Amino acid sequence: MSASTKDIKKLAQAFLRDQGYYRGDIDGMWGTLSNRAFKRYSDYLSSLDLDIGGERPVAEDGVADAVSGIVVIDPGHGGNRKIGGSSPNNATSASGVLEKTMTLDLAKRVQKQLKALSSGIPGSGIKVHLTRSGDTNLGLSDRAQVAAKKDADVFVSIHFNGFNGSVRGTETLILSTEKGNVNEREDRELAQRIQSAMLAAIRRFDANARDRGVKNNRRLGVLSDISLGNTRGESKTRACLIEVEFIDTPAVDELLNTGPNANEVRNAVAEAIAEAIIDDLRANA
Ligand SMILES: [Zn+2]
Repeated sequence: MSASTKDIKKLAQAFLRDQGYYRGDIDGMWGTLSNRAFKRYSDYLSSLDLDIGGERPVAEDGVADAVSGIVVIDPGHGGNRKIGGSSPNNATSASGVLEKTMTLDLAKRVQKQLKALSSGIPGSGIKVHLTRSGDTNLGLSDRAQVAAKKDADVFVSIHFNGFNGSVRGTETLILSTEKGNVNEREDRELAQRIQSAMLAAIRRFDANARDRGVKNNRRLGVLSDISLGNTRGESKTRACLIEVEFIDTPAVDELLNTGPNANEVRNAVAEAIAEAIIDDLRANA
């Protein structure tokens, strides 16, 4: 069996998409996700009996570049009363799981994944802080100020959406320049990395995942550059807010909470977010 380079590339893209790792053009973005995807693709190619008329691409098992940085993860909502613009809870899943519970669960998984991924890369050191580790609420500016105090490179606020019980989609929000964002371009790059990675992870388990994209939102106190400390000092925190999915939609509730793969899906989403953050730290090192 003989195949042209174009066929091989098509095959690669189809395979990467199936694996949930496909991001744009195969020659384009190259980070932790892409590297891992290429390794899988290379292994897959080796398992086929294809004559590709030349050298077979082989992924290096080599050591990834060391990566370091400070990351603050903000589990949205918490507690029982509204504080500083932060409501204790917004969305509730179809089966009754509260958004505030899901944000904390995912934040802890992202923290664990960041530590696990960076510990596998010699010389790396990623510090991860959560704005809350229990069922308590913090004001929006207090959440952002945790990032300022820790001198964070990256700040990610985790939320889940709710609407009419049938809408689907994953989106990532950033603050607009008009609302005082002094580093919108950097925030957008972080947001796009996380958005693509999250979406790919969800797609691995659910073909009905929907890309609502990166949105430039005008009213997000938790992303205030004044509170994040970005209007003073040299090093700026790159920040975005993720809305993972609409949890009041039964199919999403099953995917993330009640279905047989819920634990695996949540870990996959957490790993995707962690890998995107690591890519962002590398790109800005
Ligand atoms: Zn929320």
